[in-house]
Amino acid sequence: MRVVASVSEYGSIVESIGGRYVQVTSVIAKPDQDPHSYQPGAQVQLALSKAQLIIENGGGYDTFIDTLRSSLHSSAPVINVVQLSGLDHGSADFNEHVFYNYPTMLKLVDRVEQVLASTEPTHAAAFRSNAAALTKQIQHLEAETGAMHASFHGDPVAYTEPVPGYLFDAIGLVNVTPTAFSHAVEDGNDVPPAALNTMLHLVSSRSTVRLLAYNEQASSVEAELVKKRAAASGVPVVGVTETLPVGMNYVEWQQSNIDHVKEALHQ
Ligand SMILES: [Zn+2]
Repeated sequence: MRVVASVSEYGSIVESIGGRYVQVTSVIAKPDQDPHSYQPGAQVQLALSKAQLIIENGGGYDTFIDTLRSSLHSSAPVINVVQLSGLDHGSADFNEHVFYNYPTMLKLVDRVEQVLASTEPTHAAAFRSNAAALTKQIQHLEAETGAMHASFHGDPVAYTEPVPGYLFDAIGLVNVTPTAFSHAVEDGNDVPPAALNTMLHLVSSRSTVRLLAYNEQASSVEAELVKKRAAASGVPVVGVTETLPVGMNYVEWQQSNIDHVKEALHQ
């Protein structure tokens, strides 16, 4: 069964559940690609035309999937992870990086299992047991952030882009980044000078922020400046990504994010 996922973390989830019965194409899988400015080529169109299941993030993140689907008149089932999350209430501040939200990923595991089992009922038992194993691993991530909450809730943190926002929420960390800063970086716009100054001030001391999360996939002059200031001021910088680092599956990736945040908070 052929599956197309817009980003590699969703592809990884499908591979874990489908095993050898699925052929997964993850459109955005290179660590140096910025998903927000991705332009699909002809291979993506070809893969989508053959897909029997399509997984998109939604929330304006990977609109190219819907554009191609409608031009191809695709009738393959689609899982829109933002819709599945139930987290989008139409607020302008909605954080579309739902792959850092473990309750959403648990819903995704269930949904993928259902679609795979209904498409290939003969392998339903394998899908069920793989999904159960993955669910356990994601619940373990949740338990770990829950345990961190006791020690670190209320600690102020900052990020160059809201990438790890849901992870921070789960630990109870308080994001103090000016929204004008993170929105501009995410949208690839110039950061307003006042927001840049506030941000530079914030990352100049560990008493104002305990760590800075830096999106390694979005290059911006201002984000780079802030990262340098944090490093020079002894504020730990935690690199985060929007797709899987090479050689990692979803759970390994999130475990390493948790480990890096924990290490930074303990410093
Ligand atoms: Zn992003």
